[in-house]
Amino acid sequence: MDRDPILLTPGPLTTTLRTKLAMLRDWGSWDSDFIAVTAKVRQSLLKVIHGEDSHVVVPLQGSGTFSVEAAVATVVPRDGHVLVADNGAYCKRAARLTNLMGRRCTVLPFDESAPVSAEAVEAKLVEDSSISHVVLIHCETGAGVLNPLAEVAEVCARRGVGLIVDAMSSFGALPIDARELRFDALVAASGKCLEGVPGMGFVFLRKAIVESCAGRSQSLAMDLHDQHVYMEKTGQWRFTPPTHVVVALAEAIDQFEAEGGQPARLARYTDNYRTLIDGMGRMGFIPFLEPAIQAPIIVTFHAPGDPCYEFRAFYEAAKKHGFILYPGKLTQMETFRVGCIGAIGRNEMEQAVHAVELALQDMGIASGEPAI
Ligand SMILES: *Cc1c(COP(=O)(O)O)cnc(C)c1O
Repeated sequence: MDRDPILLTPGPLTTTLRTKLAMLRDWGSWDSDFIAVTAKVRQSLLKVIHGEDSHVVVPLQGSGTFSVEAAVATVVPRDGHVLVADNGAYCKRAARLTNLMGRRCTVLPFDESAPVSAEAVEAKLVEDSSISHVVLIHCETGAGVLNPLAEVAEVCARRGVGLIVDAMSSFGALPIDARELRFDALVAASGKCLEGVPGMGFVFLRKAIVESCAGRSQSLAMDLHDQHVYMEKTGQWRFTPPTHVVVALAEAIDQFEAEGGQPARLARYTDNYRTLIDGMGRMGFIPFLEPAIQAPIIVTFHAPGDPCYEFRAFYEAAKKHGFILYPGKLTQMETFRVGCIGAIGRNEMEQAVHAVELALQDMGIASGEPAI
């Protein structure tokens, strides 16, 4: 079938035709037309979190992880001490890159089926006063857990500790208000809930700390302070910008605003999530998380208990019916994931459920019920 399958993954995700078509032109990086696109994108991004007064936003080339790494290297002093609240795979990645950046790193482990506890974070800060920064993953895309950003931000503000938030899979969909939350850095990317294409990240830096970040990064390419200063002065990116990605993001943001911004996007994803859960439930599938801690971004399901089940074959069968699923990322048990984000709505989610039903039939599996 000569048609793109629908991506039910946490990025890259299905984009609109308008967003794809925006990439069919060439742009000079120094040209005033492209400089205007970059400026408009930056302004719009700040508006999403109401951060015009409190924060600046610094775009960076690369996938989302590049920007998380850049945020740690730019914000944390070389003798700083980072506490990573760990309830999943993306937390572990943040801890690893913090170590590789040469910053001291302590991991506070939590169960991957539960949110991070702000009380436990506070207890750790009390116990070890050398901790200078906390890293929190807002939505842990590994299992799909929503972590308590407001509570952790309140603890960090009260304790005078910096906060770096990986809001990669939540930005644009879940509410984040910089007027109410204090954070030093918040990281997201083009190819997630804004429904652009992958290729750039962006980091909101608190204005009050920007100057103190000069010279902290041991990396030239990942120095967000340098990128910020250069961009403010020239309107240009320091090094070759991902021009097509930037114009596609500008186009995607236009559609985001026309749809009604973050509240509208959350409403559509929540509807996608409910349609998915209901339909999968009818086939016997059980989600891994309790609904109360589940973000409507990506859902982890237990694998069916049927002996005929095998993820690779299930993936191929669902793909044959037009949908791309995602493997599970849990350490303990066999699961798979289904994303609710991207330029898709209830129709596509109903079709996705139908595709899973057909995939089970193809494999001779009667029910999605797990073995437990
Ligand atoms: C997608 C994502 C990232 C970035 O992953 P890349 O593969 O580098 O784009 C980081 N953190 C979270 C929570 C994510 O969902």
